[in-house]
Amino acid sequence: MTYDIVIIGGGMAGASLALALKDLPLSIALVEVVPYDSAAQPAFDARAIALAAGSQRILHSMGVWEAMAARGVTPIEHIHVSERGGFGSAHLAATEENVTALGYVVEGRVIGATLTAALAQCANVELLCPAELVAVQVEEDGVAVQLQHTGAPRTLRARLLVAADGGRSTVREQVGARTWELGYGQTAVIATVTTDRPHGNTAYERFTDTGPLALLPCDPPGDADQALRGRRWSLVWTARDDQVDELLALPDEEFLQRLQQRFGYRAGRFLRTSERQAYPLVLRFVREAASARVAFIGNAAHAIHPVAGQGFNLGLRDVAALAQVIAAAVARGEDIGRMTALQDYARWRRPDYLRTAAFTDGLVRTYSNNLPPLKLARNLGLLALDALPPARHLLARQAMGLIGHLPRLACGLPLQVTSDKEEVRVTGGRFEQDCFVTCHLKLAT
Ligand SMILES: Cc1cc2nc3c(=O)[nH]c(=O)nc-3n(C[C@H](O)[C@H](O)[C@H](O)COP(=O)(O)OP(=O)(O)OC[C@H]3O[C@@H](n4cnc5c(N)ncnc54)[C@H](O)[C@@H]3O)c2cc1C
Repeated sequence: MTYDIVIIGGGMAGASLALALKDLPLSIALVEVVPYDSAAQPAFDARAIALAAGSQRILHSMGVWEAMAARGVTPIEHIHVSERGGFGSAHLAATEENVTALGYVVEGRVIGATLTAALAQCANVELLCPAELVAVQVEEDGVAVQLQHTGAPRTLRARLLVAADGGRSTVREQVGARTWELGYGQTAVIATVTTDRPHGNTAYERFTDTGPLALLPCDPPGDADQALRGRRWSLVWTARDDQVDELLALPDEEFLQRLQQRFGYRAGRFLRTSERQAYPLVLRFVREAASARVAFIGNAAHAIHPVAGQGFNLGLRDVAALAQVIAAAVARGEDIGRMTALQDYARWRRPDYLRTAAFTDGLVRTYSNNLPPLKLARNLGLLALDALPPARHLLARQAMGLIGHLPRLACGLPLQVTSDKEEVRVTGGRFEQDCFVTCHLKLAT
């Protein structure tokens, strides 16, 4: 069977790309090894994802945001940053940035249900599931992809192969893509916790001597217990690897006490916790986001620390950029797997990778050193950040994913160019408002 594009991995990144390409005259196969309705499906679990305002805009441009919002999302209107045992703190507010929300918290399973429902309506996307990629052969004019599909071997051919198969990417292995990797020696422990005070749509990032703690306001969809509505949080507790087994095994009461001790009372008193899950952390990047006939997106291209909730946001910008490069190649009548188009994609994504890695990794490393002069400098830095609006705007724009050369979908524009000399000014705030972020779209044509 021959397709224009085969996407390996139907997680958040792969499913989003298939949807972003739905209006192009292309045949697409989306290959996913774990059935979507399986409890073992790790891509769309109960993990809460903080979607930046820029990502919300991409999903809106793709036509899925309204359905996602209807299933249940929680706006983030304030972000509070502080250090345990320190005197400094900084506060970002949506109103200051002229936006309705700095971002939204959405459960992975809500993202999954929305994307899969939308995919079912796409005539040009064929979902092959359960199907596992076994081998890839790159040839001059295309790729041959060997699968195990519902227990039987099957070969697909395509002009372009997209690796969206996550951190342990088989595509990466098969094509020998080189990666750069650094362990953190840290693991994220996640849980849903409840407090005695309403969250007020505030997200907290608190740095401690063992790693950052994040609390994201998160009202689960269809929450039967209305009494708890507005008082639930998604906790991401980063701990050293050697502390994790103990944290996971603690009885709920003791876990909450430990959390209270590390986080303090800024969010109120912690009352309940769900089961806890652990995710080992690593910093990893492919050296090039594309090679002959192959493009990498999402976690197959990069894994970053969840400190500022940037991973899927970065992956969604991959999706929007690759979709735009493909749309431009289609408009020119070119081969979509041609190396020059893929190099445009890889070049485009590199500065965003470097900036986001520097931001997240820089935060983790700056706060992991407890030397008193450094701690003092950090707290003075937080005070300065809080007092200086331009510094706050810059941080808010990075957190909202509105820095750099934005793809058309992130600007609220359709994927394909509508005029020859398109130069569009878009804003960092609401679509129609004019404010500080000006993006001159240099289209990949
Ligand atoms: C604790 C934690 C908190 C986070 N919080 C945030 C946040 O707040 N905001 C944010 O933006 N990001 C966050 N992230 C990052 C985010 O979860 C990831 O970036 C995102 O889930 C990656 O999606 P993906 O589709 O690229 O990869 P995956 O979710 O790994 O999906 C890969 C898919 O490929 C399939 N697959 C794998 N191998 C094969 C094969 N051989 N054949 C066929 N299919 C295959 C898998 O079954 C899977 O469905 C967080 C991460 C962690 C660990």
